[in-house]
Amino acid sequence: MELPFLHWLRENIPPAPNVALGIGDDAALLNQQSSQQTVVTSDMLMDGTDFILQDCGAAAAGRKALAVNLSDLAAMGAKPVAAFVSIAVSKRFGEEAALTVAKQLFAGLLPLAAEFECAIAGGDTNSWNGPLVISVTAIGEVPVGRAWLRSGAQPGDAILVTGTFGGSIKWKHLDFTPRVREALRLQSLATEVHAAIDVSDGLSLDLSRICAASGCGARVELERIPLSLEAVEYCKNEDDFAAATEHGLSDGEDFELILAVPPHEAERLLRDQPLDIPLTQIGWFTAEPGLTQQLPSGEVLPLQPRGYEH
Ligand SMILES: [Mg+2]
Repeated sequence: MELPFLHWLRENIPPAPNVALGIGDDAALLNQQSSQQTVVTSDMLMDGTDFILQDCGAAAAGRKALAVNLSDLAAMGAKPVAAFVSIAVSKRFGEEAALTVAKQLFAGLLPLAAEFECAIAGGDTNSWNGPLVISVTAIGEVPVGRAWLRSGAQPGDAILVTGTFGGSIKWKHLDFTPRVREALRLQSLATEVHAAIDVSDGLSLDLSRICAASGCGARVELERIPLSLEAVEYCKNEDDFAAATEHGLSDGEDFELILAVPPHEAERLLRDQPLDIPLTQIGWFTAEPGLTQQLPSGEVLPLQPRGYEH
């Protein structure tokens, strides 16, 4: 299967300015500017865990595999450069079927790669008797010293989030837009971002990861969490706010960004709304460790981080 597939790949993958040498040699060569740091992230997706091939098809699985990596680059404030796509395709249904799956997978991810100017510069293709496995390594770049880490949040920083939360299992977990444009827009505005993470496992769980890395805590005002229509629809009663909020806090795979931003900067961002999607403040970072929730009455209660634990 490998040789015809390699031919197909060469015909279907466009050249890219940052890739001096792409698919076909022992390794790829990427051009690099000395003013930039290279950002590298890797994610492996497996049929039966991260997607159900039979339900979603190979194109959606391929798209998701690239999208989760682009989301991690966005969470670092980095611009995508290139991705390396390694796949293990099931040969239980024969060579021809395996080749079809491989082609569909790339047909699903290539438009996303083009949309975010991320070259497909290499990878590996294998077939075996197990289920489909897709491993993507994505390379990005960020001006030296401008990467957003998880560890820089400071007490008093506003907790800002992009987009909406909850109910991603309905469709968003396969069809989400990684927040690359938003990250690059904030970088181009020289926004002071102290820390960032993308929400892969749950808003409260990923927020607790920023807190752990930064040595601080966070207080959330639950009624300020922007809920997706899907999360709201989950709740049978119109006034079932608590259930909708629970989805927003813990569903995961929202692939939105959480940002720690100093108060003066947050005020400006919330007023100007420089992104194409809403930026919302849901609370602030605190000196005391741990997550807390503040009720409209002002009462403060502990908030247990919840979400998808690997
Ligand atoms: Mg991440």
